[in-house]
Parts: sequence; C-alpha cells; structure tokens
Amino acid sequence: MPSPRCCDQPSMKWRQTRVGDRRSDIYVCSRCQHIDAMESWLVPLSPPDRGRCANCSGHLQLKEGNYRCDYCGLTSGKTRELHDNLSALHPSRNYLQAALAAAEMNRFVIALKLSTAAILWNENEEEQVLARAVRLQSLEGLGELDRALDEAYEWSTNGAPPLVWGVIADLEAAAGNMDGALAALKNGIAAEPENLDMWLDLAELFAELDDRGKALSAASHGLNSPESRPRALAVIADIAERYYADSMWFNAEESLKVAGDLQDKNVNLAWLRARLAASAENVGEAVQWLDCVLQLEPSHTEAQEALQKLRPKKKGWLW
Ligand SMILES: [Zn+2]
Ligand SMILES: [Zn+2]
Repeated sequence: MPSPRCCDQPSMKWRQTRVGDRRSDIYVCSRCQHIDAMESWLVPLSPPDRGRCANCSGHLQLKEGNYRCDYCGLTSGKTRELHDNLSALHPSRNYLQAALAAAEMNRFVIALKLSTAAILWNENEEEQVLARAVRLQSLEGLGELDRALDEAYEWSTNGAPPLVWGVIADLEAAAGNMDGALAALKNGIAAEPENLDMWLDLAELFAELDDRGKALSAASHGLNSPESRPRALAVIADIAERYYADSMWFNAEESLKVAGDLQDKNVNLAWLRARLAASAENVGEAVQWLDCVLQLEPSHTEAQEALQKLRPKKKGWLW
C-alpha cells in the first residue's frame, strides 16, 4: 500500500529501528528511504512473567490497591487496555491472531507486544504455545537473537512441546551456529520421531552443510506423506544434481533411487535421469526418460531439444 508516491518505483516495507528504550516499526521505501509511517513503543524484552509489566518488562509494584509498573508507570488495567487496542489490528481482536498477522508483515514490535499479551492472558494452552513461538520469532526480527535463544532454551527445560526444537534450530541457524541447529533438530526428532517437518528441516540443514548422505537419509522420511513429499523430493533432486555437476554419475543415480517409483512422477528427477542416461550413452533409456519428462511437463524445451537430437528421424514410406 504505497501511499503518496515517494519515488518512481516505491518499494514499501516495515522495518525495525530503535531510539533509546523505545522500538519502532517504520514503514519505509527501500529505494528512496522515504518514511511513510512510524510506530514507537516500549517493548517487553524479558520473558513474560506475572511479576513483570506486559508493556515494558518493568517490575510490578502494589500501590494503593493497584499493580503499577516501576518503569513505565502504567497500572495493570491500563496495560491491558493498551494491548486490547493493539489487538484491534485484527478483526478477531484476539491477541494471538493479531500477533501472527503483525509478524507476517514484519511488524515485530507490535508482534512482540501482542504475543506477550497472548502468553500472559490467553487461557487456551495451544494458543499459548503458538504465542511463545511468535514471541521468539519477533525477538529475532528485532535483532535480539541472544535473548530469543536464552528464552527458547529456558522454555525447552520448562514444559515446552517438541516444536520448541524446530524454533531453536531456526534461531541457531540464524545465529550461524549450525552445530546448535543440528543438535536442536535431533532433540526434536528424538522427542517426536513422527514429526516430518522436523525431518525435512534436518534434511535441508544437512544439504546446506553439503553432508549429502545424511541429507538423503533424512529426506527419505518425508516421502510417504503427500504434504511433505515435495520438500523431500526437492532435497533429493538438489543432492543428485550436485553429484551430477561433480561428474559423479553413479552417486547421482543412487541418490535419485532414494525417491523410488516417484522418479517418473517428478519432472526434476526424470530430467536428471535422462541426462544421466545420455551421459552413459544409453540412448534408449535416455529417450524413455525424456518422454517421461515431456509427459509431466509438455513445454520442457530442453527435453524437447534433447529428444530431437537423440531420436532418429522417422523415415516413413511416404518420405
Ligand atoms: Zn521511494
Ligand atoms: Zn511497564
């Protein structure tokens, strides 16, 4: 929603900035740096706790029958009112839904405030778990990775469900600690072996580390479910392509075979099978795989061209 045009090609995005103890979501054009909107707030950086202010993490003190924050001075009632106004960002006026919407738009200041409100004041346990995940993502978005990691590890020792390990793995990877990310995913899988998302996170991480064997073996777990299959096949294709690029054709073919009879149902895998067969000068097999590619994707021009080269011109009796 670029409002008044600031430059020829406005590219508006929410970004975060910080002035003193306040954090701001700013709506800024990344081309000309024109700032269209800014919202500045105190934020609760410390883990949510009944004794702390939801607005700023200050300490709550009982004064004249009211709990009042010793930092921002708001009473508990006023704090609640402030967050209720913020949750009106979302039609449901639900703290968690509004926090999710804010995080989606990279408005991490608002997302942090609303997810904290959801953790403190939502009764629904499932929503509280999601709210914790959004809060950690928001801390990361605000550049508070260390705080996010501390809070996530603390949560992991404190009744968190296994999904906490997926969140920790993301945070560790963002911090550049691949060993930490691997360890987290292994913990998560140990706690919930049937969690295919975590197996595929692991496969993608191994692929990033170019640990090809382990990437394939982790990806193979995702093949049996229609939801996770595309991600699993993408890892398999990626690893096989790397072997192919290294002229390690045997390994490339063995990698593709991990996909079993899904090879002729996926255009990337079939296309690589065709090129491998052509590299081995196995024309008949190459033609078969090219046919397969073109069945899956009739407009695949490289396969069309390869097939024209390989397939001898038809010499019917009329010509
Ligand atoms: Zn602009
Ligand atoms: Zn406060």
